[in-house]
Amino acid sequence: DGSDFWVEVSLSLMTIQGQQVLFTSMRDITDRKRAEDELVETNQLLEAAIARANEMAVQAEMAAIAKSEFLANMSHEIRTPMNGIIGMTGLLLDTELTEDQRRYAEIVRASGQSLLGLINDILDFSRIEAKKLDLEFLDFDLSGLLDDFAASLALRAHEKGVEFLCTADTAIPTLLRGDPGRLRQVLTNLAGNAIKFTHDGEVAVRAVLLEENENDVLLRFSVRDTGIGIPKEKIGLLFNKFSQVDASTTRKYGGTGLGLAISKQLAELMGGEIGVNSEESKGSEFWFSVRLGKQPMGRGVENSPAADLRGVRVLIVDDNTTSREILRTHLASWGVRPAEARDGPEAIHALFLALEENDPFRIALIDMQMPGMDGETLGRIIKADERLAETRMVMLTSLGMRGNTQRLEEIGFASCGTKPIRHQELKSILSLVLTKGNGVEPVSRSITTPHVTNEKSNLFADRRRRILLAEDNITNQQVALGILKKLGLHADAVVNGSEALKALKTIPYDLVLMDVQMPEMDGIEATRQIRSSQSMMPNRRIPVIAMTAHALQGDRERCFKAGMNDYVTKPVSTQAVAEVLNRWLPKDTNTNPDESGKLNDASSTGKEDNNEEGDASSPNTHHAPAIFDRAALLDRLMDDEDLARTVAEGFLEDIPLQIEKLRGCLESGDAPGAERQAHTIKGASANVGGDALCAVASEMEMAGKAGDLTAVKVRMPDLEAQFGVLKEAMTREL
Ligand code: ADP
Repeated sequence: DGSDFWVEVSLSLMTIQGQQVLFTSMRDITDRKRAEDELVETNQLLEAAIARANEMAVQAEMAAIAKSEFLANMSHEIRTPMNGIIGMTGLLLDTELTEDQRRYAEIVRASGQSLLGLINDILDFSRIEAKKLDLEFLDFDLSGLLDDFAASLALRAHEKGVEFLCTADTAIPTLLRGDPGRLRQVLTNLAGNAIKFTHDGEVAVRAVLLEENENDVLLRFSVRDTGIGIPKEKIGLLFNKFSQVDASTTRKYGGTGLGLAISKQLAELMGGEIGVNSEESKGSEFWFSVRLGKQPMGRGVENSPAADLRGVRVLIVDDNTTSREILRTHLASWGVRPAEARDGPEAIHALFLALEENDPFRIALIDMQMPGMDGETLGRIIKADERLAETRMVMLTSLGMRGNTQRLEEIGFASCGTKPIRHQELKSILSLVLTKGNGVEPVSRSITTPHVTNEKSNLFADRRRRILLAEDNITNQQVALGILKKLGLHADAVVNGSEALKALKTIPYDLVLMDVQMPEMDGIEATRQIRSSQSMMPNRRIPVIAMTAHALQGDRERCFKAGMNDYVTKPVSTQAVAEVLNRWLPKDTNTNPDESGKLNDASSTGKEDNNEEGDASSPNTHHAPAIFDRAALLDRLMDDEDLARTVAEGFLEDIPLQIEKLRGCLESGDAPGAERQAHTIKGASANVGGDALCAVASEMEMAGKAGDLTAVKVRMPDLEAQFGVLKEAMTREL
């Protein structure tokens, strides 16, 4: 029957369909299963790959660390013999040599120094890379830092005939906190490159304030040059280590390709960024930002405008736009009313116009090097006209091409300064020029040149002394070496305490400038070892001057305890270094550098392992004030020994009381009292020939006068120690 047939057909169809559904779903399941299996497998592969990648990363990291450590060790190992080469060549140069021999030895020394410079860079870099670099946190004055930086780079630029300019936004607070050495290092790297890659035109450094809040500032420094520029496609690689724009650059300009990589790391460590804008054959602008702390207010803030300069009209004559802008910014910050002229003729026009307006320029600041009419000629023209007689002229010359002051004076210039002019220097020149020879024909006896820096040059040249500088920060090292050189002294540099000890064992130095915080062996430990009675040091009592951070008061006490003689605060200034050297550097000039006596004196007379120096009983001790100058005392008392004993007894009884009183003043925070007490002790000890005690008391007096009670306090242990040894010497010798 037909219907059955259809039922059957449809049933079997359903069965087939069912089977198909079943079949399909079964196939689905196997597919999914397979997919899952595949997924698991892929997962496993992925996991293995990740594990392998991790392992490789770990290995790479280990390799990087190993490499950095290797670099650090290597450069350290190379440095030690290098120090020997440089130091010994220095000794050799102090002996009698023929002209040829001298020239050869000088080349050895110069080559040694440049090799050491390279090694220092590598060491510095490997330390940054191994994350072993700690920033310092010091109080410093940004305008002073920029002035020093500009002075040293301007010299390099001017040698190439490139103009160098440096200016800071007047809104930036100048008393800041941070790591001035590292900041200067980045600036020097960028500006050094800019000078290197610029053949004519200018390099301009500029600092602006990006942000300021209660505690800190964000500054942006830029270094713009008119040099060869950098091709667009190369810019991305610049801050990678060891990269240079192309291999030929290296051949043409030299360099390691480390400078920018170090700068990047340092800028980032200081909470900033670094970048560059550049156009090939037009020039480049490298910039970086840093975050710096502000010093709490009320401490020696100078920035008040000089009253006598307010409202004074000054004409700036300079062909260089940036240079005019810098001068204008300086002048405006003191309330001066500046105007500008681009060349001589424009200046003359402006001067007469101002006369007509009945508002004459009182000062004309004139650049020496101008195309067409130069500064001198302009000066002559101005002076030739009676109507302009009241205008005082100040000449600005470029470093290295200092004008002949006498000729300038004859022309009628009242003063001159060297570019880049320091903010402070310009201010004092202007004030001086205004007050001098009022109304009378200008130009008094001599031209006013308040060369803050020049007056100290070669101050110590006649002492022919040998200084060892231990400082791990390469820039700080360079700065200190520069200062010493300026003072007329030769110094060798090492980067840590153990290198210092090695150097002291072989070369007879006269004084050590010792950084306190250094890797491997710090300054404290090194000093302890120098002073130790077990030390094999040829001169255990060599004066050691600490270079300490201002912020770390406790450090200074540790310095004195370890046997250091004095300290200078970082960042070190020429002034401060000159002062300590004056106190501690032996004065006699007729020392034979190869005298062997010096090698024996200290170890044979040494009795205690700390900070007494200049023991009167050791004839060859050539430094530091004497502990007890018996001869001076007797001389003063006309050789009456009995009287000397009575005086000494009185003194030894009285001083502990004076010291007690001084302590009282310190406890009650009485600075004038402390100053008075220190003065009393100073006077008394000078009278009895206690020179070393006198020196400490005198420093305390100065500190008291400056209201710096901490500095007084810090010297208390030294004062007492000096009194102790003086007492001992007096009792023994009288
Ligand atoms: P180097 O020690 O080789 O100068 P740096 O890292 O300081 O190393 O610089 C890397 C490269 O960047 C330089 O070799 C140069 O090619 C390029 N460079 C840096 N500064 C400038 C600049 N101001 N103008 C042009 N090129 C520059």
